[in-house]
Amino acid sequence: MKNIPMLDLRLEYEYMKNDIDTSIKKCLEHQKWIFGPEVKELEDKIASYIGVKHCIGVCSGTESLVLSLRALAIKTKGREYFDRSDLIITTPFTFTATGDAILRAGATPVFVDIDPATYNIDPVQISHALSSMPSASNVVGILPVHLYGQSCQMDEIMKIAEEHNLFVVEDVAQAFGGMWKGKRLGSIGTTGSFSFFPSKNLGGFGDAGMVSTNDDELAGLMRMLLKHGGKDKYNVDHIGYNARLDTLQAAILIAKFKYIDEFNNRRRKIADLYTEGLKDVNGLVLPCPTQPSVYSTIQLPDGHVFHQYTVRVLNGKRDELQSYLKEKGISTMVYYPFPLHKMKVFEGRCEIFENLTYAEQACESVFSLPVEPLMKQEDMLYIAQTVKSFFK
Ligand SMILES: *Cc1c(COP(=O)(O)O)cnc(C)c1O
Repeated sequence: MKNIPMLDLRLEYEYMKNDIDTSIKKCLEHQKWIFGPEVKELEDKIASYIGVKHCIGVCSGTESLVLSLRALAIKTKGREYFDRSDLIITTPFTFTATGDAILRAGATPVFVDIDPATYNIDPVQISHALSSMPSASNVVGILPVHLYGQSCQMDEIMKIAEEHNLFVVEDVAQAFGGMWKGKRLGSIGTTGSFSFFPSKNLGGFGDAGMVSTNDDELAGLMRMLLKHGGKDKYNVDHIGYNARLDTLQAAILIAKFKYIDEFNNRRRKIADLYTEGLKDVNGLVLPCPTQPSVYSTIQLPDGHVFHQYTVRVLNGKRDELQSYLKEKGISTMVYYPFPLHKMKVFEGRCEIFENLTYAEQACESVFSLPVEPLMKQEDMLYIAQTVKSFFK
């Protein structure tokens, strides 16, 4: 029987083995484990790839969000942390770390609903929140998440941010290499936050992350915060962290970065094949924009990097379909089973704007199919066939 995983990192390692081994070996020879030359090399490479002035290596995607927000608190408020009355608008349909980073920076997340066509934060809801929430004047920023590798509506979000004088922290953890109208994600907002967790589109062999910005002051602050809070480690200015990017992770990421465009293209091809194979299935909603949505007329530029290929299963059949596929040797995952506003950690620590119906519906109905850039075409076809056979 088939046994198809969501991802096969061994396969990817074999494919890039020479590059990765050579890169690691260099580190073994120079032994500069902290702030070794690979850290700066990776920062420079990614800064020029994304098209920003500064990229700063960090120990994880989560810490890159916290560092961004802490630096923004220091720069815009002149305080180490935000206050609980400072509000940051974000999506409830994301990985916990997005909302948790807001809490850790001292602020309060305001959850607004998503657009069910893309699962990304709905700019219309952001506007509504800013015009009708009693506490709207306390909003300091927006934290959009490019979920599953697909860009948020960045024109609208940036326009709202400018009108209300808000910062924008892009959570690009799932969308390395993704684009919005010719611009790389992470180059549009005030800062961009990246994760190199092993399963992300660009992943290390452990935890790692990066922040991007064009703002010199924020870049300077983040560089201090990630090494205990000072320019000088032994004489510090701010409440800092030990959040450096490991030299070894940087070396591995330099080797893997060579393949990122190829791998993102492979992901798009897998997505096209799924979409072609599943387009006639009644009872499934495929990712936008490959399928026009009944909910939305928006047209998105083709910058999707398919970190996940996520479909919505109608009529409450998601769990049944998942078990069916499991029996046929196909792994699937639900990203995410719970919206943030339903989690205990956010209880009494968040604001909820109106209702979050689409986010809640998504949690109950979405699931993701395997997207392993090196998977065999035969397996993709098998997956599409098997999903189809469930609906027959
Ligand atoms: C993975 C992820 C993070 C956190 O990144 P880590 O490197 O695991 O800390 C943050 N936000 C989103 C949307 C993610 O998918």
